[in-house]
Amino acid sequence: MDDSLELFSSAVPSAFSKDDLEPVPAALSAVGGVDSGRCTFYDVTLAEKLAEYIRRSYAQVMLTFKEPKNRPQPETLEKTWKEMETMLMKTAEVAKPDRDKRGVVVIKRSLELWVSEKKGTLSRMFSAMKSKDSNESEIAAYQAKIDRLPHTDHNSVYSEEASNALAIQLLDICGSYLEHCRVEWDDSDDMDKHISECSFRPFSCESPECGVMVSVKNYPDHDSVCPWKRLSCEQGCGLVLQRQEMKKHMTTVCPRKPISCPYKRLGCDAALVLETLEDHLSTATDTHLWLAVLLLDKQDTYIQSLQQKMDELMDIVESTEQDLKEQHSVKVRAIEKQMSSLKSSISSHSSTTKKEVARVKEEQDRIRTQYRVGKI
Ligand SMILES: [Zn+2]
Ligand SMILES: [Zn+2]
Ligand SMILES: [Zn+2]
Ligand SMILES: [Zn+2]
Repeated sequence: MDDSLELFSSAVPSAFSKDDLEPVPAALSAVGGVDSGRCTFYDVTLAEKLAEYIRRSYAQVMLTFKEPKNRPQPETLEKTWKEMETMLMKTAEVAKPDRDKRGVVVIKRSLELWVSEKKGTLSRMFSAMKSKDSNESEIAAYQAKIDRLPHTDHNSVYSEEASNALAIQLLDICGSYLEHCRVEWDDSDDMDKHISECSFRPFSCESPECGVMVSVKNYPDHDSVCPWKRLSCEQGCGLVLQRQEMKKHMTTVCPRKPISCPYKRLGCDAALVLETLEDHLSTATDTHLWLAVLLLDKQDTYIQSLQQKMDELMDIVESTEQDLKEQHSVKVRAIEKQMSSLKSSISSHSSTTKKEVARVKEEQDRIRTQYRVGKI
């Protein structure tokens, strides 16, 4: 077995083995040495995306059963999964002749439709059950549907393995030239030759920690973003490190990290990097000292101008205080005047009242005296 065949067999993920899905993905047969007459390599990244999309769509439909009392039976899950599988197979068959169209797009649209229809059916079913006005037989029919749908082991139905296998089958059926290789061969020599150079052959990322598998044609895309890829420091310090550590390194410990002089505040605008700082500090001592003196002078001038402003403000405060005092005494005098006029008015009122009382008393005495002498 040459190197390329070794790469091929070690690169096909074991997770892609599917127990009950037919037909067996041809790519796996090829790995097993079966000459199927044509290349069945597919776009690995696309297959993973499609598999994930299938899992998500299925889970979305199953969300209708989120109420514990409505939890579906295993048979329900199985049945729903089979429905989806059948629907996707039909879609793939329909998409097959149209090789210019991306089959995955067609499958995705079909899945979306299925999800929206399925969700509608299930929610109509549950709302009918909850409504008291529904007729008995309708409810019984819905109930029967639910009873037939079963239960619990989600993972056994739409496991990653199952959805990966389904995705590969779909790509094999409807694959356009963009997502699936369809090269044919006459003998095993042609097969070996093609397999070693097929642009769809699976390839494991060269970074040992990554382990991501992509088709060879997509490797440059992955390589340009792989977080584990080792790169030389972009600031040129010479260190080799993983892409995902680059940013942190460049902004923290990298000796080539751009920094400002600690005396920037004094006005030193020297362009420095971490490793040249020490050197700069020892060679630019005079410059820094001179900048400090200039800054002190500037600050002195500023303090003087502040002092002057403060004096002006104090003058304003004092003159305002004086004004207020004067206004205050004018008001006090006016109030005193009003009070004295009130006082005299009260005393004049009280003497009038006294005179009136005396007059009433005199009148009383006069009446009493007249009564006594019998005039009344
Ligand atoms: Zn091929
Ligand atoms: Zn990688
Ligand atoms: Zn560096
Ligand atoms: Zn400096």
